[in-house]
Amino acid sequence: LTHPYDSYLDLPPKFPGLDNLTTNKVYLLGCKDFEQFLSTLWGIVDPKNHCAFCQVAAGKEVPVFSMDDWYLRKNNYPQSDLRMMLLIIPKQHITIRPTRWVASEWEQVLEIFDFACKEYNLPGGILALRWGDPRYHAGTVPHLHFNIFSPNPEVAYRMPASKNLAERVDNYIRLQKHVREFNEWGGFERLLSES
Ligand SMILES: [Zn+2]
Repeated sequence: LTHPYDSYLDLPPKFPGLDNLTTNKVYLLGCKDFEQFLSTLWGIVDPKNHCAFCQVAAGKEVPVFSMDDWYLRKNNYPQSDLRMMLLIIPKQHITIRPTRWVASEWEQVLEIFDFACKEYNLPGGILALRWGDPRYHAGTVPHLHFNIFSPNPEVAYRMPASKNLAERVDNYIRLQKHVREFNEWGGFERLLSES
């Protein structure tokens, strides 16, 4: 290991089981392509400057719609089998869940949800909160969020919350590939120099 952060990506050759991976690695396990891997890794290493969902609070991104504590955005990684996927995100960097939900925060979430339905003419779908340990929600950004899914009625869409072992093993092989690409790209030295 040449860099202090290298332990973040130190992976045994074979899938060691979810419980033997750090929570950060479980987040990275779900990343589909290298771009998403890089985005998630950056947010883990430097959430203050690079968490994908903190950019509105940092003033670097203008949200579709915003209230005091939450905002609305489109998903950066659209899925072809969905007609629409939106995110309702707290401006504060909350990784697990709030220690206490205040009524006004729920009200904001509902108001943003209402706005989204009207703005995008959503005829129906699912509103879901990903929270807590990513082993139990298959999220890829360590920042609490609601997903609004609106599917195509004739295309199957199954919202991932967990995966079977074979899929986890496939994801692990994919993660190893991303780590190799990351090291060729310049590794942590380059990542931190681009901060
Ligand atoms: Zn964040």
